[in-house]
Parts: sequence; structure tokens; C-alpha cells
Amino acid sequence: MAYIGSVPDTAVRRLDWMDQMACRDVGPAVFEDDDQEHEARTICIARCPVRSQCLAHVKTVERGLHRDQRDGVVAGLTYTERHRLDAAAPRHQGDAALLKFDGTERCGTHLALLRHLWLDEPIDSKCWSGKVKRDRKNRGAAAPEDGESASDLVRAVS
Ligand code: SF4
Ligand SMILES: [Zn+2]
Repeated sequence: MAYIGSVPDTAVRRLDWMDQMACRDVGPAVFEDDDQEHEARTICIARCPVRSQCLAHVKTVERGLHRDQRDGVVAGLTYTERHRLDAAAPRHQGDAALLKFDGTERCGTHLALLRHLWLDEPIDSKCWSGKVKRDRKNRGAAAPEDGESASDLVRAVS
């Protein structure tokens, strides 16, 4: 089986968009290692041209799965986040995950970033900056890193 990052592909045929996945050039370790979560998210959010297709795909193939049946970062979301968001959809009908959000999520918060990611909304620089700040704090890091700045993201997604 060709490497496709941590995107689940077991029971499905290869899809055309999979040729453009940014994770193909990186290697699976980044997406499966909790310590490299920040790097994996950055690749998905800022550098992958097919995040929308990947998101739709993972929502379908993981629908209803237990957290332990999921793995790694996919489409910018950790396996725990995907589990929680999927489980918030009653009976997994349609786009019912919208029910988890009430529209008052404030940009710059983690919840707002999750909303953008799960509903495939544009990710604004405020949410990205908030994410970078949180990640850096969690890692005890201080120096800016390549590809982290809000302007880099805006350039990448515009
Ligand atoms: S969004 Fe992330 S996991 Fe999905 S194809 Fe792109 S790089 Fe791979
Ligand atoms: Zn936002």
C-alpha cells in the first residue's frame, strides 16, 4: 500500500486527490507521534492543498468509530478531536456536528479553531496565532519556527 500519511485508506480505493497530499512527502512518523502534533497540524493547515477532500474522507471512513480505532493527525485534527467532534453528531446524521457549535465561538480560542477545521471554514490569522501561541507554551519553546507565523499561513491559504 502506498504511503498516505495517517489518512485512513484501508477499505477504500485510492482517490485522485491523494496524489496531492502534503503528508506524502513527509513520512508517517510526524502524523503518528504525539510529540510532533504541532508539525503535523501545520502541514495539514498551512501546506496541504487537499485538506477539504481529506476532511470529507476522514469524516466518512471514521464515522462512529471509537477513539482507540483512530490514529494520528488527519486534516489538522488529532484522533481525540475527531472522535469528540464525530461523537457530537447525534446518530451521525448529515452535518449534525454543527450542533456542537452555537456560532459564538470566539476566534483565537481552541474551540473556534476546531470549528473552522471540522466545518472546513477558512482559518483566520487570529485562530492560527492562538494555536501557535498555545503550542509554543505547551512545548516550553520561545523562538519562532519556520512556517509558524500568521502571515505565512495567510499566504499559504490565500
Ligand atoms: S490534510 Fe493532512 S493528513 Fe490530510 S492529506 Fe493533507 S497533509 Fe495529509
Ligand atoms: Zn477563527
